[in-house]
Amino acid sequence: MSTITLGIIGGGQLGSMLAIAAKKLQVKTVVFCDDANAPAQNFCDKFICGKYDDNQNISKFVSQVDIVTYEFENIPYETLNEINKLKNVLPKPSINRIIQHRLAEKDFVNKLNIRTTRYVSVKTKSEIEALDDFLPGILKTATLGYDGKGQHPINSINELNKINIDFSKGYILEKLIKLKKEISVIITRFDYSKYEIYEPIENTHQDQILKYSKIPAEINERLFEQSKNWAIIIAEELKYIGTLCVEFFIDRNENLYVNEIAPRVHNSGHLTINAYNVSQFENHIRAVCGLEQVQLKKISNAKMINLIGDQIIPYRERKNFDSNEFFFDYLKKEIKEKRKMGHITTLI
Ligand code: ADP
Ligand code: MG
Repeated sequence: MSTITLGIIGGGQLGSMLAIAAKKLQVKTVVFCDDANAPAQNFCDKFICGKYDDNQNISKFVSQVDIVTYEFENIPYETLNEINKLKNVLPKPSINRIIQHRLAEKDFVNKLNIRTTRYVSVKTKSEIEALDDFLPGILKTATLGYDGKGQHPINSINELNKINIDFSKGYILEKLIKLKKEISVIITRFDYSKYEIYEPIENTHQDQILKYSKIPAEINERLFEQSKNWAIIIAEELKYIGTLCVEFFIDRNENLYVNEIAPRVHNSGHLTINAYNVSQFENHIRAVCGLEQVQLKKISNAKMINLIGDQIIPYRERKNFDSNEFFFDYLKKEIKEKRKMGHITTLI
């Protein structure tokens, strides 16, 4: 039996599912989050509320745990780095610093000879006028974006004048590709050349928010292998410990591109809870806590639907689910538009 106490920074649905997986492995959890209503407090052993620069509460948190991990990548690098001086933070803060910044992230991927969309750093509006070549494109904030937040599609130079952009923030301009499909690959790395990898998952977004995920992804054998190989190269190069997700684009000519890397468990991997012997969450806990690596086995094909905003209501009211249906309610206090409230996985 393990006597490890794991600290988790961030108390949303990913923190909740990590805490549930930890409990199964007899790992105790302390969750630290800046939201007093954070859903993970329903699942962890101890909950501490504080801002991510609240040194007093962070010290309290750190003193109670053996190892620290996180459920989202936008924690200030300084915070993670300070914690890392006292307790092991996994994945390493230096990895998070690369991935937090879209430009550093894309430069890192390209240095590995792995394809991304074409991109350029932009600091002023006038710069974009000389970048015709990147249009139609999407202007994205270099940091802090998620679920399409901080993004502006730009079809032509004329359109630039119609939108109001705060250029005090850093941006990148990314050439739009003719998207055929999006997939993700989730990998949990334990040590040098030691990892467990899930098969590619096919994802459908609505309004830039993930709506559906399914396995198997309907892709050819080459893309199946290439996406897994690229995920392995990225995890090895980062000397990553824990679960990582690589999001990919496939264009109409069947070219594969890395879109972004998430240094954490990922929404598209929720179906691994029911479709595999070991979920992405359990694997993350196993890797960061140095527990046994168990060989992955797929149990079933599956599809997952994200329940966004008030889409959760009919599911909350439903009394019966079929034996192949698994409904998860994140127990968020308030229903908000565009907020992920729960999901349902169906084994198929
Ligand atoms: P976020 O950090 O908000 O998830 P992404 O860069 O993953 O941002 O973009 C969100 C979604 O927008 C993508 O999943 C994809 O559907 C679409 N998108 C983003 N960039 C491009 C692009 N260069 N070409 C085509 N579609 C894109
Ligand atoms: Mg994304």
